[in-house]
Amino acid sequence: MLYVSTRGNAPKLGFEEAMLAGLARDGGLYVPESWPQLSPDEIAAFAGLPYEEVALRVMRPYLGGAFGEAEFLDILARAYAGFDHPARCPLRQTGPNDWLLELFHGPTLAFKDVAMQLIGQMFEESLKRNDRRLTIVGATSGDTGSAAIEAFRGRAGVEVFILFPDGRVSEVQRRQMTTPAEANVHALAIDGDFDDAQARVKDMFNDHAFRDAVGLAGVNSINWARVLAQVVYYFTSAVALGAPHRPVSFTVPTGNFGDIFAGHVARRMGLPIDRLVIATNQNDILHRTLATGAHRRAAVRPSMSPSMDIQISSNFERLLFELYDREGPAVAASMEDLRRAGGFELPQGALGQLRDGFDSASASEAETAAAIAATWHETGELVCPHTAVGLHAARLRRGDPEVPMIVLATAHAAKFPDAVEAATGQRPALPERMADLLERPERLTRVPNELAAIEAVVGGERVA
Ligand SMILES: *Cc1c(COP(=O)(O)O)cnc(C)c1O
Repeated sequence: MLYVSTRGNAPKLGFEEAMLAGLARDGGLYVPESWPQLSPDEIAAFAGLPYEEVALRVMRPYLGGAFGEAEFLDILARAYAGFDHPARCPLRQTGPNDWLLELFHGPTLAFKDVAMQLIGQMFEESLKRNDRRLTIVGATSGDTGSAAIEAFRGRAGVEVFILFPDGRVSEVQRRQMTTPAEANVHALAIDGDFDDAQARVKDMFNDHAFRDAVGLAGVNSINWARVLAQVVYYFTSAVALGAPHRPVSFTVPTGNFGDIFAGHVARRMGLPIDRLVIATNQNDILHRTLATGAHRRAAVRPSMSPSMDIQISSNFERLLFELYDREGPAVAASMEDLRRAGGFELPQGALGQLRDGFDSASASEAETAAAIAATWHETGELVCPHTAVGLHAARLRRGDPEVPMIVLATAHAAKFPDAVEAATGQRPALPERMADLLERPERLTRVPNELAAIEAVVGGERVA
């Protein structure tokens, strides 16, 4: 299996190289040349298997020999050993045919762990084998950074630099990034918002001299391996509820479009998904895109679901590539319009296909709080604000009541205790294993929103 850039102007790479590179050299994102298919029989056979075994079967066609089967099962076992639930990503029923897919049983209490723990293991294996060293840089709206730091802390061959928007992440999120003591971990607080952080990371990748000098690697959801790891739980949850013999629907709290793109991939591989609902908070560029056909960014408005305070959804480019019939230059032109003019219009055909494949809804701050409160009163569950955005959207876009609706529960309520307490009067407690997080000493570097200054910090630390 080879990977091509969405902008059509970068070398094709195998799985391992695409994973280690992150962003393609033409500024595009790597996607597989074609979508492997799983037959209904193959999907039906997932029933009752351990999560790791399903992961092997779903991911195997994409690996192209990068890892042997036994070796990859070993990697999977190590990646998910730290999850505190035997199902790894369990379902919880919240209504007659309504379900939460709990993706927060990993070390940092958000779904990012599902992919990042696996990436950490795959990187280590790959670097060891090739005797290479890399500098990982990532931008985070909160959860990616803590998951990346948790996945790479103390690992040989990697330095990790995470840029997060100063003052715009929750205290738990910040402390998960600033309290690890390992010398290879660097938390950088940037004077800007998430889109600034993500733009500076992309700038570093597009500065090819710098990129080569420090051996830059990216683990944002622009990294194909992350998206791929997330495809697995669409299969495990759907099969648990009767797929492929009946279809299921998903609602996905969405920011960078990585998680929901994984759902799209599962569908392309043969999983019968009825509705795939994009749920956004008040930063609703994707909802507006479906409604109006114009993909136009607006200013980011901080919300109680900060991991979705995004107006440039990087992975939307992967979908665009499909909607444009895999024409890289057309994707490049639209992305240039987004960068220069703040947006672009989708051609009619592309918009029609987008609307055929997806539904969308957005939740205001008041609606998010109301969904947290309603869930608490109706089910006794405390949900995080991102999950609440999903619950709100799922209610609006429910569709056929016979079709199970699975809402992705993307973080643990204790990661956002203030918002949850304000909505319910209940303060969610951190799990025992991180009870002392608020007392551990913090370590961070403040940086301006300027490429040269950030490169000096990243390059300097790397040399030192
Ligand atoms: C990252 C994140 C999201 C958004 O996921 P995308 O893949 O960026 O769309 C939603 N909820 C939580 C808790 C997150 O950490």
